[in-house]
Amino acid sequence: MFDADKLREECGVFGIYGNDEAAAHTVLGLHALQHRGQEAAGVVTFDGRLFHSHRALGLVGDHFSNETVIDALPGHAAIGHVRYSTAGAPLLRNVQPLFADFAFGGLALGHNGNLTNALTLRRQLVEQGCLFQSTSDTEVIIHLIARSRQPTVVERLIDALREVQGAYALIALSADAIYGVRDPLGIRPLVIGELEGAPMLASETCALDIMGAQFVRDVEAGEVVIATRDGIESIRPFGTPAQRFCIFEYVYFARPDSLVDGQSVYEVRKQIGAELAREAAAPADIVVPVPDSGVPAAIGYAQAANLPFELGLIRNHYVGRTFIEPSDRIRHLGVRLKHNANRSTVAGKRVVLVDDSIVRGTTSTKIVAMVRNAGATEVHMRVASPPTMHSCFYGVDTPERAQLLAARNDLEAMARIIGVDSLEFLSLDGLYRAVGGRRRDAVQPQYCDACFSGDYPTVLEDFGLGGSADQLSLMFEDR
Ligand code: SF4
Repeated sequence: MFDADKLREECGVFGIYGNDEAAAHTVLGLHALQHRGQEAAGVVTFDGRLFHSHRALGLVGDHFSNETVIDALPGHAAIGHVRYSTAGAPLLRNVQPLFADFAFGGLALGHNGNLTNALTLRRQLVEQGCLFQSTSDTEVIIHLIARSRQPTVVERLIDALREVQGAYALIALSADAIYGVRDPLGIRPLVIGELEGAPMLASETCALDIMGAQFVRDVEAGEVVIATRDGIESIRPFGTPAQRFCIFEYVYFARPDSLVDGQSVYEVRKQIGAELAREAAAPADIVVPVPDSGVPAAIGYAQAANLPFELGLIRNHYVGRTFIEPSDRIRHLGVRLKHNANRSTVAGKRVVLVDDSIVRGTTSTKIVAMVRNAGATEVHMRVASPPTMHSCFYGVDTPERAQLLAARNDLEAMARIIGVDSLEFLSLDGLYRAVGGRRRDAVQPQYCDACFSGDYPTVLEDFGLGGSADQLSLMFEDR
């Protein structure tokens, strides 16, 4: 469940074509993708004659577990979306998929990611007379499609996408097909699956597993896929640019049971933990994960360090949305409600705590105090990613730079704030080794690592072209 002291993935998308229970499957897929967005959910179906839609603020289970809702979404084709907003306020009119009637017929559209020139395009479109109904940057794509003079739906979609910059894994539904597109750098994930001959698209493979569907392959960077009853057609209108997939998907966002780029996220996280143990061994008796997201890295760390892995922190899984509050006061309260130290495990021990990342540091501070209060003699923190120092502009909710612990403190100061005997982060090279990617000094890096390095892989038109990460973050705050 949601953690206020983690970066937040913004959206998950799902689609299926050629299954008479398309809506029910889409709801199941969205349920599996709930970790990618807990603020709102939506489904649009097409029954051969009409489009049907249901969109709501809240969790998938809050609004789509009712048979009446599923019955009101008939059709053989459906797309769905879960979201947490970065671009666009949490209003019902911003909930995706968005739907519009075009000259060619209806089209529903949803995307995961963030367009870095959406504000610029929006201003231009408004000056040209376009009326926007939402504040979501997905609507920019809808207006660009409407303006296109291309003859087919897919050509109009491609025409529109040629004008946008940034990160998107996009999914669309017309009367004839569902469409999936990844931006030319493939920053956000999208996979192809199949269920009894029906092609499917999803943000992660866990959305296929939930209904026993087969994983076919990842949609490639810059690829457009068109799914119909005849299967999947693929086109590559944006050439074959070098991929810059979000490396944070491996660190935290993706579910550990998903495959990303053909690799098990769980196994990669264990590798990350093993690299961390090799780079930054701690003098400890036991390895304790910060649950849940630190568990695979802690297992890898413990195995590589040949230390016992112990559940020295227990997480309460019943802390829900009541505590999703932006104020620092509630955040601190939320930490105490969420975790408890397991005294029988940590008392009298030198503990190495393993977490996947540190964002503000508020959770880490409370957890370290808890472990000390439970009798640990030493607490060493090892973080299974490099320091998070920069904001993300590609569809991940990052606090403004001033709130990122690593952006304003050196290692020693961070250790003092968190209250640990020692603190170490995985190096960027170590992270690349663990994910099996090219080293960062290679000519073309294979991943986006901008929140660690400040090396943004696209022009950030709305955030000051070519500016330093500092300037970019300031401009981001001003939005
Ligand atoms: Fe992922 Fe970080 Fe790049 Fe954002 S900046 S896409 S979180 S690696």
